[in-house]
Amino acid sequence: MKIAYVDSHCHLYEYSENEVKEFTSCFLIAAVSDDVYSSLKTLTIASKYNNIIPCVGIHPWEIGSTPREHIGKIVDLVSKYEVKCLGEIGLDRRFVPETIDRQREFFTQLLQIARDYDLTVNIHAVNTWTEVLGLLRKYDIERAVFHWYTGPLELIDEIVDVGYYISINPAYTIQEKHRKVVDYVDLEYIVTESDGPYNYRGLKLNPRMIKGTVKYIAEIKDLNIEEVRNVIYENFKKIFIL
Ligand SMILES: [Zn+2]
Repeated sequence: MKIAYVDSHCHLYEYSENEVKEFTSCFLIAAVSDDVYSSLKTLTIASKYNNIIPCVGIHPWEIGSTPREHIGKIVDLVSKYEVKCLGEIGLDRRFVPETIDRQREFFTQLLQIARDYDLTVNIHAVNTWTEVLGLLRKYDIERAVFHWYTGPLELIDEIVDVGYYISINPAYTIQEKHRKVVDYVDLEYIVTESDGPYNYRGLKLNPRMIKGTVKYIAEIKDLNIEEVRNVIYENFKKIFIL
């Protein structure tokens, strides 16, 4: 069965069994992790349900409390399980500026792993967009998705030029700079995401909201919903080599 909607960035391990069942029956989901423990949880869920692409990794916000040896544990998971993607990984200067040096140390090591194992990367970049793009290039990363992109519009030209993708979050409803991103980026480089169950300014993000996002993108691009849904599905397949 072809799943109509895709969620390129969801913290699925944080949901109840019933919700995981519901979401994986109607969405194709790239399930991201935040640390070694949640990476294992994600892999366990992915072994039980269909339509999940498990991503393992260490979130920039967790790096301050994560021992350096955990990088080795991520390598163990990648070599032991069928992992195609690292995430959520990246650099964040806005919410955790105090750990930026340590974040960079972890991020570059994770990018080396991505390069060595030919993995897709699910990127968290906040106030670090240019630096992150530079590192992705430096480490010859083939496939990347910039999750919930809110960076400068001009940089999008460079991002898509390398062949990387931008994912659109349901927060476009309340975040003007994200709406501008929807408007700016070509459908060829767009995927949808939820970042559920994150609560953004009272908006409880979840995959059910993606249908509305696709409708909105279709309106902005002046295309029909079916067409938009299809292109996004094909983009998702390219990102995660399905
Ligand atoms: Zn996330």
